[in-house]
Amino acid sequence: MATKYAVFWGCQIPSRLPFFEKSIRLVLEQIGIEIIDLPGFTCCPEKTLVKSYAEDAWLLTAARNLAVAEASGLPLLTPCNGCYSTLKTVLGKIKDSVDLKENVSRRLREVNLDFKGSIVVKHLVEVLHDDVGAAKIGMQVKYPLTGMRIAVHYGCHLLRPSARLRFDDPFHPEKLDTLVRALGAESCSYDTKMLCCGSGLGFAGAQEEATALLRKKLLDLRGRADALTVVCPACFIQYDQRQFILQRQGEQLGIPVFGYQELLGLALGLSADALGLDEHRVKTDGFVQTWRERAEIIGRIKEHLDLAALKRCYGCGACLEDCPVAQLDGSFRPREIIGDLLKGNLADLFQNQAIWQCLECHTCSELCPQKFGMERVFTVLKGLAAEQGCAPSPIQGGIKTFLKTARLGVVDEKARKKFGLEALPPGGEAELRKLLGLTGQEGRGGSSHERS
Ligand code: SF4
Ligand code: SF4
Ligand code: SF4
Repeated sequence: MATKYAVFWGCQIPSRLPFFEKSIRLVLEQIGIEIIDLPGFTCCPEKTLVKSYAEDAWLLTAARNLAVAEASGLPLLTPCNGCYSTLKTVLGKIKDSVDLKENVSRRLREVNLDFKGSIVVKHLVEVLHDDVGAAKIGMQVKYPLTGMRIAVHYGCHLLRPSARLRFDDPFHPEKLDTLVRALGAESCSYDTKMLCCGSGLGFAGAQEEATALLRKKLLDLRGRADALTVVCPACFIQYDQRQFILQRQGEQLGIPVFGYQELLGLALGLSADALGLDEHRVKTDGFVQTWRERAEIIGRIKEHLDLAALKRCYGCGACLEDCPVAQLDGSFRPREIIGDLLKGNLADLFQNQAIWQCLECHTCSELCPQKFGMERVFTVLKGLAAEQGCAPSPIQGGIKTFLKTARLGVVDEKARKKFGLEALPPGGEAELRKLLGLTGQEGRGGSSHERS
């Protein structure tokens, strides 16, 4: 595996997104990839602008950049889809045609560049996925993004024309999804995944159409994704900055946008400040806060549940037919709940009233060959949901009564007397309240339930 690359930033990152450059440098250094800045690069050049001006200029400019990189003897890494597409397409064209190669080489010799066509061009995603590998990245993750739902946007110029780029399947790519999962996050599926960002339409002066494309995708993501991740500065500018313009006009789409390297940086333990997240137009604080809260809850779940046993239980299902609730009510699906828990979909789980349907009848615990018993999942979830104020109202009422009176019902001596029953001796409420540090006021506010 190569660990040293020449880097081609293109125009947009250094001019408009220097925080992207910073975060890419930081994460690559942290995972052991060295990048070398070479003198002599120009615009890649941008296809729509320069190719339409003169195809020859487009081709020769790209060939010159390739020759500059080739002279370093290093593979070339670029974090921009447009640069990747241009450089790789031109390289392929030159390699395919002896005449073109001779012509280009001759003209490059005029500026003392020797071009052989041996350079290897890689997108940042290829370096991370193919060269470093998702497994190795996963091993370096210190703070997994468990429970975070990330929508992946590849961008057309990373995928097509596939005959030239050979990045991945042009319509069903997986590499970036795999890298997102390596961070512990969920790569969520969504209908408009392959929809172009519309950046090129902006160049063409079709601003409304450019906005319509981005709106379509972001609307599709509402309620499904916590963030969108991209691997191209143009895609980022489109989704972040154009979304911000809509936001200022009163349209709140509310999808924070991250370069993949920024998510990787967070998972590696780099701070939001170091990564320059405050430079985003659409605020990212909500995402970071939700992630921290979920991480804390997941940490607490780990205190109560052995995740390896939980995974085995998810794959087992042997006692499901013996669960009296599952037999009676098809909407009680313990396996689905355990699956959601493993994915970290906690917010949904806490709201899911089904977790309260477990009767704690202990059947599953008795029958479980691995001495796990799925009821313990429900016990933990109920406790955490109650802390979040998500318990059904009868349960919340019961908790409040207990916290207030240390009982679930006040002894009705009058009613008892009717049956000739002697008054009961005084209870231990005062002593218990003292023991538990209760003041009797707890039931009046929110729940502060502590699990035993
Ligand atoms: S999605 Fe847009 S900016 Fe991104 S690569 Fe495609 S056209 Fe270019
Ligand atoms: S303890 Fe809960 S999950 Fe287990 S069998 Fe009884 S009702 Fe079903
Ligand atoms: S509780 Fe035990 S028997 Fe039931 S599904 Fe889980 S591992 Fe299997």
